[in-house]
Amino acid sequence: MARPHVVIIGSGFGGLFAARDFEKADVDVTIVSKTTAHLFQPLLYQVATGILSSGEIAPATRDILRKQDNARVLLSEVTHINLDTRTVIGVKLEKQTVLKYDYLIVAAGAGQSYFGNDHFATFAPGMKTIDDALELRARIFGALEMAELSNDASEIESLMTFVVVGAGPTGVELAGQIVELCHKTLVESFRSIDTRTCRVLLLDAAPVVLPPFGERLSAAAKKELERIGVEVKLSAMVTNVDATGIDVKHADGTTERINATCKVWAAGVQANPLGRTLAEQSGAEIDRAGRVSVLPDLTLPGHPEVFVVGDMMSLDRLPGVAQVAIQGGRYAARKIIGEVTGHPVTEPFAYKDKGSMAVISRFGAIAKINDKVQLTGFPAWAAWLFVHLIYVVGFKNRITTLLHWVITFLGSGRSERVTTEQQLVGRLAVKQLGEDFQPTISGTLDPSKIKH
Ligand SMILES: Cc1cc2nc3c(=O)[nH]c(=O)nc-3n(C[C@H](O)[C@H](O)[C@H](O)COP(=O)(O)OP(=O)(O)OC[C@H]3O[C@@H](n4cnc5c(N)ncnc54)[C@H](O)[C@@H]3O)c2cc1C
Repeated sequence: MARPHVVIIGSGFGGLFAARDFEKADVDVTIVSKTTAHLFQPLLYQVATGILSSGEIAPATRDILRKQDNARVLLSEVTHINLDTRTVIGVKLEKQTVLKYDYLIVAAGAGQSYFGNDHFATFAPGMKTIDDALELRARIFGALEMAELSNDASEIESLMTFVVVGAGPTGVELAGQIVELCHKTLVESFRSIDTRTCRVLLLDAAPVVLPPFGERLSAAAKKELERIGVEVKLSAMVTNVDATGIDVKHADGTTERINATCKVWAAGVQANPLGRTLAEQSGAEIDRAGRVSVLPDLTLPGHPEVFVVGDMMSLDRLPGVAQVAIQGGRYAARKIIGEVTGHPVTEPFAYKDKGSMAVISRFGAIAKINDKVQLTGFPAWAAWLFVHLIYVVGFKNRITTLLHWVITFLGSGRSERVTTEQQLVGRLAVKQLGEDFQPTISGTLDPSKIKH
């Protein structure tokens, strides 16, 4: 008899940790993902600001699973899931992939949300993928290069103003690193401009930074951000983003125009659209962020063979963080193995909160382990370093990441500053080709699909 086939969609935290737990199980596993790598999203901002290389935070999934004989890795973007026929269909370039499953784990994550203003993305890219991080790196370093060339004072001001929208962990960490970059690392590198005069603004519509960390840690984070030179503007709603700047409405009704060439959007998330397909077919509810309501064992109603984990799932108001995805993926694997071996797992998924942390400056962070244990400053930073190093996948990556951190935190160097023109304009160029545009396997373009 054929072994049960487990299909896993996504090679992020949920998908990869589930796949690895099947190592000794009597099943065949196919992990299908639209990217070839397992991306460690929490460190994307370090790729964007020249600390780490993309390879360090995105090792190849194929390489991670190379010794797991029962696991196969396929590159494909899943476009259809049919719960009745238990089929997953994906496409990459012109190649279609059709997979039949006995069990399905959907861990396709979330994308950026612009809260209905998708046109903001043209001028303020998000921070979700390696593409995003490399584009942002090109925008940050490119803005300073252009400022060095300019003789126009207002243009220089715009090029030397950086705006980060969203004061969650990503926005806070990014703003902190851009300020370090401009006010420390690059101070001796330019001749016409003084990078110490760069402005870095962090905006949020909420009245506090990092709201889930609680009042005390939020206040400590804001104080530290301001100490290192970040201008924090809270209760500030972004009303428009264009090529030269950003429009903001404040809580008192006043409006402000901030001229800035380089803007980053780190404000909202929207679950993968596959969630909607699953909800429509199973009758599961879907929330405003597009997450699918799952049963306490992370399955879909009427489909005990289909699990939804991580950023795509909605259960007990659990946050969209790596530990929820990791623990959810591992629970789904345990549940499937239990069924296959005749030892069913009957207890529901129980999330163990291991705390959360955010880096603000060199040697400065905040960490909320639980309601009683809350750290600030160097102890929080040391805890952050330790935890992140453990979760970086692969021994070699851990060593090189540690080396880069020594270069950055003990010195103030940034060794990963290479940017290319394609990184800078690639996303916008593809967008101009139009929605119908599909690259082909041979790398050629169909001229009839190019919009003029
Ligand atoms: C910039 C940033 C910083 C963060 N910082 C932290 C932090 O400090 N601490 C923390 O706990 N969490 C943090 N998070 C959140 C954390 O990274 C996510 O909660 C976690 O990655 C969710 O795991 P997941 O498996 O659900 O999705 P992901 O890790 O996003 O993985 C999704 C996978 O699905 C694949 N995929 C997507 N669509 C398709 C498709 N149609 N077909 C095939 N494959 C598909 C993707 O390629 C990817 O491999 C951060 C997130 C971001 C973006």
